[in-house]
Amino acid sequence: MNDVAIVTGGSRGIGLAVVRKLLSLGYEVVATYAHSAGELEKTSAHSIKADVSVQSDVEKTVDFAKKIGGIKVLVNNAGITADDLLMRMKDEEWEKVLDVNLTGTFRMTRAVIRDLIRNKGSVVNIASVVGLVGTIGQANYAASKGGIISFTKSVAKEYAKKGVRVNAVAPGFIDTAMTEKLDEAHKKQYLSLIPLGRYGRPEEVAELVAFLISDAASYITGQVVNVDGGMVM
Ligand code: NAP
Repeated sequence: MNDVAIVTGGSRGIGLAVVRKLLSLGYEVVATYAHSAGELEKTSAHSIKADVSVQSDVEKTVDFAKKIGGIKVLVNNAGITADDLLMRMKDEEWEKVLDVNLTGTFRMTRAVIRDLIRNKGSVVNIASVVGLVGTIGQANYAASKGGIISFTKSVAKEYAKKGVRVNAVAPGFIDTAMTEKLDEAHKKQYLSLIPLGRYGRPEEVAELVAFLISDAASYITGQVVNVDGGMVM
């Protein structure tokens, strides 16, 4: 049976780089997106329009993946921002970010955990260094990413004996549409905090994901690994 990897938010940025990497490793990749398939159409991934914050879409994704093969890998990558200072933050900004980033990760993981146990698979959750150290104007996003980190550790403990590994990757500043929209002053400020002196590339995150799902990482679970040019150490 084919090994299937599900990547949420695979249509651009980090998710797309992960999709390409996993295809190059021979996985059948099921990639989700919320609005547009974008570059996915130019890959051999099986793309599906599915919102991770909607339970029926999550179930649709998993049913679709099961028809292709045995689910071996889940990469919870779909994520959004809705930045605002706390004093101005609207309920909707808080709820939407938590719903997609954190609850979406929970919903997807819950939906595939039995398959992962059967196939001795693994999960990689895309968190953020912001979930470790916090940042101004992103209380909602930081809380969602901090939540992903503690979710990762709990699920890693819960399923280790069943042979399922669960890790998190914490990117720093990666050059994608998500960071593109920041103003120049902010970008410059971030750059000054990165010892390697440049932003990261989505492919550099994908390499770490590929390592964590591989047998080379067979003794690694419940960890958060930064890929951030040394920004947080
Ligand atoms: P991006 O370029 O904005 O791409 C986000 C992806 O998520 C897109 O494929 C988008 O699909 C999808 N998506 C958004 N909402 C979704 C939903 N409700 N259901 C399913 N898919 C959804 O973002 P990125 O920079 O590649 O970020 C990817 C992940 O890395 C996120 O979790 C982000 O928080 C994390 N991260 C990024 C950075 C960075 O510097 N870029 C740093 C730390 C962590 P559509 O295109 O269809 O909307």
